[in-house]
Amino acid sequence: MYVVADGAVAPKNDFVLPFLLDGLELHGRIIRLGSAVDEIILAHDYPGPVAHLLAEALTLTAMLSSIFKYKGVLNLQIKGDGPVGLLVCDATDGGQLRGYAKFDRTCLPTFWHEKSNAAQLLGEGYLAFTVERGPEKERYQGIVELGGRTLEQCAHHYFQQSVQYDAVLKLGVSRGRAKTWRTGGIMLQCFPRKEPMLPNEKIDEEWKKHRDLVQKMQPSTLYQGCISPFTVLFELFDDDNIRVYEAKNLCAKCSCSKERVEFFLATLPNEEIESLKVNGKIVVTCEFCNLQTIFCENDLTELGR
Ligand SMILES: [Zn+2]
Repeated sequence: MYVVADGAVAPKNDFVLPFLLDGLELHGRIIRLGSAVDEIILAHDYPGPVAHLLAEALTLTAMLSSIFKYKGVLNLQIKGDGPVGLLVCDATDGGQLRGYAKFDRTCLPTFWHEKSNAAQLLGEGYLAFTVERGPEKERYQGIVELGGRTLEQCAHHYFQQSVQYDAVLKLGVSRGRAKTWRTGGIMLQCFPRKEPMLPNEKIDEEWKKHRDLVQKMQPSTLYQGCISPFTVLFELFDDDNIRVYEAKNLCAKCSCSKERVEFFLATLPNEEIESLKVNGKIVVTCEFCNLQTIFCENDLTELGR
């Protein structure tokens, strides 16, 4: 049986949908990204393995952004000594996503089977989350060493090390026939309870059973836009009462602007302004969305430079 919260309509793409397995107190999220992830990746000329890894990282970021209560930006940074030296992803409280990767094209693997191999691409390094929770609240930061072959395993490692509850997470990424990127993910969390409704052994047993169900999921079930997320949950947890909450929409949107670049240029020392000029112009490129802003001599004079 499944119960849909009042007014909940099955979303199709670019959403994160919270749910609860009623009676078991297992909380979860199901996520699917379509045009949001495609737009972010297509703004760059990323080789397949890099694009795949960034798509996973964006899905993970959006997933985590729905767990924390915050106003501002959740930032995921993964730094390693492998061919992909840096992955950066942001998710705002309003569901706006952006991200980019820095990599060394000459060191990328020549074979790629559309499967993430984070360990090979990232090497050794760390994964860090920063959550800005508004001006009055402290910022939250979690950092762990990269551990695991896939980004999913790195995320599990993060949960084991940094949060006080059990969690399981599954991600799926595909580049479909139309060469568009699609991703999906599911996460289940088992919080410790002060006054559990079930005996501890029963909680453990139920948690293990449900964790295994998530782990055994086919990644393709997660990103296929033609399957309703309600159906995915219903088929996965068909013995349970599933309560579904209102979905949050996600989209690709960068927070860069010409005004911000102007402000940045206005703060630079003269020597640096001169060193940035090529044929009298300064071209500033946003690392996230690849948008170029060109400042000619006249623009720079207007800025007082
Ligand atoms: Zn931008």
